Order: sequence, then C-alpha cells, then structure tokens
Amino acid sequence: MKSLAQLDHAHVWHPFTQMRDWLRQEPIIITSGQGAVLRDVKGREYLDANASIWTNLHGHRHPKINAAITRQLQKIAHSSALGFANEPASRLAARLVAAATPVNRTGHVNEPETWPKPGPNAPKLEKVFFGDDGSTALEVALKLAYEFTRRTRGKKSKPRFLSLDGAYHGDTIGAVSLGHVDLFHKAYGGMLFATDKVMAPYCYRCPFNRAKPERQDARKYRKCAWECVGLVEKKFAVQKKKGNPYAAFVFEPLMQGAAGMIPQPSGWLRQTTDIARSHGALLIADEVMTGFGRTGVTCHVDDRAIAAVTKAPDQAKLFACSRTGIRPDFLCVAKGLTGGYLPMAATLTTQRVFDAFLGEYEEFKTFFHGHSFTGNQLGAAASLASLDLLQSKASVRRRAELQKELHDELQTLWPLPHVGDIRQVGLVAGIELVRDWQTRQPFDLRERAGIRVCEAMAQRGVLTRPVGNVIVLIPPYCTTRQQVRKMIGALREAVEVCFGNAEPPKSRGR
Ligand SMILES: *Cc1c(COP(=O)(O)O)cnc(C)c1O
Repeated sequence: MKSLAQLDHAHVWHPFTQMRDWLRQEPIIITSGQGAVLRDVKGREYLDANASIWTNLHGHRHPKINAAITRQLQKIAHSSALGFANEPASRLAARLVAAATPVNRTGHVNEPETWPKPGPNAPKLEKVFFGDDGSTALEVALKLAYEFTRRTRGKKSKPRFLSLDGAYHGDTIGAVSLGHVDLFHKAYGGMLFATDKVMAPYCYRCPFNRAKPERQDARKYRKCAWECVGLVEKKFAVQKKKGNPYAAFVFEPLMQGAAGMIPQPSGWLRQTTDIARSHGALLIADEVMTGFGRTGVTCHVDDRAIAAVTKAPDQAKLFACSRTGIRPDFLCVAKGLTGGYLPMAATLTTQRVFDAFLGEYEEFKTFFHGHSFTGNQLGAAASLASLDLLQSKASVRRRAELQKELHDELQTLWPLPHVGDIRQVGLVAGIELVRDWQTRQPFDLRERAGIRVCEAMAQRGVLTRPVGNVIVLIPPYCTTRQQVRKMIGALREAVEVCFGNAEPPKSRGR
C-alpha cells in the first residue's frame, strides 16, 4: 500500500504552494492535536504557532467545542437555509449581533470610554448573512454594498470601492478585485473589476516617516504629519469631484494580516473612517483575521487591565471595530468563527441595507446569492460553543495574560540584528526580518528568508508560515507561558542559525 506521503504527492494540490518545491520534500502529515500542540504521523509534536492558518482560537480538541459538535451530530449535521430555518443558526445570528455591538446592562450601547462616541446615526449591525469562508463573507458584503448603492443613488450609478494597498480580502474574483497584493493578483488582472487603492499606514517602511530605525515598534518612534490620512482624504475628495463618490471604504481594522501583519498607529482608523463617513461611503470591515478577540482585550495590558477585564467578561470586546468604537455597515467574519473547527463565515449588516432589498416578489429586489452550506448546523453549534468560551472569565483572563506574555517575550528579539520590526496587536505579531536593522535593507525575496526561518523553526518543533520576510505568530488562546517561550526561542535560534547573530559588516562601528 502507498504511504500517506505518496498519496499526497500523487494527488493533492496544495494552496498557495509551489508544488515543485513541495514534491521535493516529505510532507509533515498531521494526525492529531491537543491544545496548542499538533502531532504528526511519526509521533513528532509541534506547537501550532499560527493557529492552523489563523483559525484556531481555543486549541485543538477543546472538550466544550467537541461536545457541542457531537451533541449537534446526534440531531442533524446540515439542513438547507434555502427555505428552512434552524436552531443553532438562529441563535448564532442573535449572539453575533449582540457581540458586534456590545450593550451594557442598562440596554445602552456600550462603547469604549476613551474614544469619541459614534454619532447618533451610527449604524447598528442587526442582520446576519451566513457564508462558508472569508472570501465569501467579503463577496457578500461587496454585492450588498454594490446593489444598495445602486438602489439609493440610482440604477445608472457605478459604485466604486476604495481599499488599502497590500490588502488581502480572499481569493474569489470579487474579493481579489478588492485586494491589492500584486503578487497574487497579477495573474487574474483580465478577470477583475477596477477598485482604487490608497496607502496603508506601514510605519516601518513609510516614505513619510523621517525617524531613523530604533529598537522598538516603528509606530512608537515614527516622525510624520499623518500624511497617510491626508492621502485618504485626497482620494475621497478627488473621487467626489468626479461626481461619483466612493460607495464603500474596505479595510482590515487595527492590523492588515496577509499584507504582512501591518498594524495601524493609534488614531488612524478613527480618522480615516470619519473621512469615509463624511463622504457618504459605507464602511466594510474585514475582521476575518482580527475578529473574536484576536486584537486583544485592551490596547495595553498590565496587571490592572487584566483585573479590570476579568470583572466583566461578557463585556470584553470581541472585534477590532468595537474595541475602537468604529461602527461599520458590514462586518465580515470567518476563520475563528467556529473556533477554527469548521468552515463557516458571516457578513453582518444593518437594517438600512436589509430594507433596501425588501419588495414585492415580482419586483425582484431579493438578494440573489447563497451557498449550499449557508447556515450549516454543525458549524453554528461549534460557533455558539466558541462564543461561550470567548465570553467566559477564564478565557478573557487568559487572553489578557497571553497578550502580556507575548509582548514580554517578543522584546527579547530586539537584540538580533536581522530583526527589523516587531509588530504586535493583541494576540498576533509579525516579526519583519531584514538584512540590516540599521538601514532597514530588506532580504531579497529570492533568498526566501522567511521560509528558511520557518523551516528551521519547524525543526525546533514550532510550526508557522511567513508572509514574505515577516514571521507570523498567532497562537491559540490556550497557549501557555512556557509554550510562548518555546515559540519565541525557536524563532530566535532559527534566525541565528540562518543568518548568524553578528551585526552585518558594513554597519559595524557606526
Ligand atoms: C484569510 C482572510 C480572508 C479570506 O478568508 P478565506 O477563509 O481564506 O477565504 C479574507 N480576509 C482576511 C483579512 C483574511 O485574513
């Protein structure tokens, strides 16, 4: 009989993978997992340092999620949302709506104190359209925003979208059109519709940042005059002059993921979304990566913050938008929705958008879109269990602690001369590797610096995938302090093994 590796090599085509490279190596075949640990067919154990491509929240084989799925299986796995409702999807929709706009005990919308309050007309998310993955969540928002705009501005209007440079919103044609990753999108240019892009606030490599590199997060020492916000303002003004103001502004709040874990400096999101609003644009928030607590419980975590958030765990903000007081018209979630157990997605939107699709049957105002597995019962049951966990005291406390532990351990990487920038937002971090930190000189893509470091980390029992030369750490929330140490230790050793730990010769003696 053929081995599993042979079967894979013979028949499986892997995503985003140069299969010629893949076929040269024996694959790691994962057979089981427990908490933050993955085990392969040879019995080797690894830490799942990128939460199985940013999906897993509470660890593998969590008893509560396993039990919820098993319980649901005793009833039914799937029934169609086309023509029928079901219990877990109905309950989940209500829970998502409540989680997206936290309401305090007196029934008032509970926004963070430190941020300007949204205006009285700020939208409230009330309707949920289920999908299967992040791409379809964005596709739904895109189609709804397009049709909503044509219905409110006139059928002849040509809705135009603005998104961020480097943005990744998924791989379906609509989602690819919204994205701006040249490497991924060049091939499909002929199939895409035109969208506009505007500079994303990448402080570490920002041409407007006049500060010399320092051994800390570039957001902290940058010297600029918010030129990036000025560019957003200009884009909106120019588009308005053309007589076709943008229909929607699409963004990943707080941190762009696949662009290379690029965090926004404090205040950027508020300023740019205010500009978009003042031009009448809808806000589409892509929280496929940032959702469900990934961006942390508060901005800065110390012991006092940990004590404060664990007092009211049900008030913990699960979305980057709610953490920053941004109220979008569309909130797209997927990856972590089911805790990372099953493929499921949701696009949340407002009553106002929903109402634009109401009409007599023969008016054909219906939203003509849907998937076979929309509102899947197993996925919804897993999601409900995941939300219970997320809003429990134990999880909120652990997330706050983990955020602090990750921060403390990451600081130990600054002495490495090949670490250029360390970017942490809550429970996700990107470590950008460079040839020389003093000049920010990047490694050439052909050197495969990120891939080599991740291979060396795998040999040390830690699995993750790079984005170019950025090493991604996005641990499951159950990761222990000791496991965080192991992840960062493996990264440090891997960088030293691949590139040495001496300052590059030309920068010595400066
Ligand atoms: C992963 C991702 C997507 C696409 O989700 P899929 O489930 O892979 O289709 C979209 N947006 C963001 C921000 C993502 O991280």
